Amino acid sequence: MRQMIRKPSLPETLLADDFREEPYWWAAASPKQGDGSAQADLPRKADVAIIGGGITGMVAALDLARAGAEVVVLDAQDIGEGAARRSAGFLGRTLKRSVDWLAHAHGRSHAVQVYRELDAALKGVAALVEAEGIDCHHTLCGRFVAANSPAHFRAMIADLEAMRREVGFDYMVVEKHEQHREIVSDRYFGGAVIPDLGSIHPGLYHEGLVRRAQQAGARLHPFTAVERVQPGEGPKRITTSRGSLTAREVVVATNGYTSRGLGWHARRVIPFRGFIIATEMLPAGLIERVLPRRRTYLDTRINIDFIRPAPDSNRILFGGSTGTPSDTAMPLAATLRDRLVSILPDLGGVRLSRAWTGQCAGTFDFMPHVGKHDGVHFGLGYNFAGIPIGTHFGRLIARRILGRPHTPSVFETSRFPTAPFYSGSPWFVPLAMRYFDWHDKRIAAEHGPGRAVRA
Ligand SMILES: Cc1cc2nc3c(=O)[nH]c(=O)nc-3n(C[C@H](O)[C@H](O)[C@H](O)COP(=O)(O)OP(=O)(O)OC[C@H]3O[C@@H](n4cnc5c(N)ncnc54)[C@H](O)[C@@H]3O)c2cc1C
Repeated sequence: MRQMIRKPSLPETLLADDFREEPYWWAAASPKQGDGSAQADLPRKADVAIIGGGITGMVAALDLARAGAEVVVLDAQDIGEGAARRSAGFLGRTLKRSVDWLAHAHGRSHAVQVYRELDAALKGVAALVEAEGIDCHHTLCGRFVAANSPAHFRAMIADLEAMRREVGFDYMVVEKHEQHREIVSDRYFGGAVIPDLGSIHPGLYHEGLVRRAQQAGARLHPFTAVERVQPGEGPKRITTSRGSLTAREVVVATNGYTSRGLGWHARRVIPFRGFIIATEMLPAGLIERVLPRRRTYLDTRINIDFIRPAPDSNRILFGGSTGTPSDTAMPLAATLRDRLVSILPDLGGVRLSRAWTGQCAGTFDFMPHVGKHDGVHFGLGYNFAGIPIGTHFGRLIARRILGRPHTPSVFETSRFPTAPFYSGSPWFVPLAMRYFDWHDKRIAAEHGPGRAVRA
């Protein structure tokens, strides 16, 4: 396994002895070279070729291989080196568009359908973990959404109330004077608890999927970059960095790592980076003191800060500064650490044990997309919430390929927008992030309508 231990831009005194620049999750679930077939020749043909061995790809591979299909998974990196084992492990019904916004733009029934499907995706993770017996710290810990201003608090409650009214999702209001029972911080202006949201160890979840897919017969080919897929119905020729093969069906499951060679898909996803740090091992009892309910925590801005306790050690994970144009986490580690301490002052002189980054994918309409284009299946554009939706899309794609009955997805539309001249280089992400910051400040000054909450 490659370990990236870098020269820190953080003072040495703030780095724990076990500091590494790699995802915390890799300690328990490091990316593996598939089934050892890294150097094995590619087969000349397969029933299904899946491009991308993240959550979407492995869930599809598992279901297809179980049904008897000959499945190959092709990944440009090691299996699990993408976002699947780099995320924060929050499980939600996350979307950047609120119920009210969707109802206003596309009608109430569409809005309800969207959130019902997100709920099904959330429950789908629990069902898969249970059915497969994957030991990955899956828990319905609930989420605390902390308001960044009184106006954010009012807007959030209005959104949650609309969600309860339209779709029946529950929440509990936490006033500012009560918030220490959720998070021992004075940075926020109250918040809300969404009790049925959860968390997971994303590394162990993905590893569980990989193992089961392999047991079912899927062949994994890491370090095999797909350069071209011949479009059209019928068997398709796939050209990779390690040779070519023909497959009856092809699935693009590359999300934030979609390479330019996958032209149509690359023009529709907007890659951007997320950043996370993990603290050193904390003294016993400290996490319970600062995060008494051990939930997941985020705030009401579009560009959120997010916090969670590690499920398997006494550390806290913190993320933010999403979309910053940096290929590594180190330039941001000091800022993230300072922000964590400013939110949770009891962490005082805490040192860091990990810092890492990973790529997510936004879309021009802020919606995830699943479907088929030019004979090629795809599931893409998870907008920072790919654990439930990737799982859901992986299963849906497998059912479609197998010709099994399935409920059509509200996210499968003929319209998957791109922008003129966009080829997959997201030069505008930092500008968009600045716009979102401005937008959040504007909301803080007034009660704007239609904000999304991370429910
Ligand atoms: C820092 C961070 C925090 C996040 N937090 C959360 C969270 O709390 N909750 C949540 O639900 N989601 C979260 N996400 C998002 C979630 O991790 C992703 O949406 C999801 O993992 C991406 O989908 P995937 O797993 O299917 O693909 P990925 O794991 O991203 O895998 C895609 C793979 O495609 C491969 N690939 C790309 N192009 C090619 C090619 N041409 N040929 C071969 N292979 C190719 C890549 O090598 C990569 O391994 C987070 C993401 C990041 C980065």
